[in-house]
Amino acid sequence: MAIERTFSIIKPDATRRNLTGAINAKIEGAGLRIVGQKRVKWAKADAEAFYAVHKERPFFNDLVAFMISGPVVVQVLEGENAVARYREVMGATNPANAAAGTIRKEFAESIEANSVHGSDSPENAKIEIAQVFKPDEIVG
Ligand code: UDP
Repeated sequence: MAIERTFSIIKPDATRRNLTGAINAKIEGAGLRIVGQKRVKWAKADAEAFYAVHKERPFFNDLVAFMISGPVVVQVLEGENAVARYREVMGATNPANAAAGTIRKEFAESIEANSVHGSDSPENAKIEIAQVFKPDEIVG
C-alpha cells in the first residue's frame, strides 16, 4: 500500500477546549504522521469556499458560522491508507453514532461541533490540501 496524504481540520469547538494535543495524540497513535500543520482563523469566504459542496444543505449557514467562531488547526496527515485510516480514527459524523475510542466519540459536542474534519476520498484530499497549504509548508 502506497503512502497517502489526507487533509484534516481541528475545528473551533476543539481548539476552544484546548484539545489540539489530545487529538494529535490520537492521530499519531493511529500511525499517521503530521507533515503540515498551522493554526489559523478562517474568514467567512474561506469557510464558504471549503464547504461549497454543502451550499444547498440546510445546515450550511450554521456550519460556516461555526467554522469561523474561533481558530482552526489545518493539517496534512501522511501514512498508509491515510484517508480511510483517519476516517476510522475520527468516527461517525454524529458523535452519538461514533464508535468507542474515536475522536468524535470522546470529544465532539454535537453533529455540527464534531471536533474534526477529514477528507472523504484521495481525490478530495489532494484538492483540499492544495486549497490550504503551499507545497513548502508540507515536510514529509
Ligand atoms: N454537519 C452539520 N449538520 C448535519 C451534517 C453535517 O452541521 O446534519 C456538519 C458537520 O460539522 C460535518 C460537516 O457538516 O462534519 C460536513 O458534513 P459531512 O456529511 O461531509 O460529514 P463528515 O465528512 O465531516 O463526517
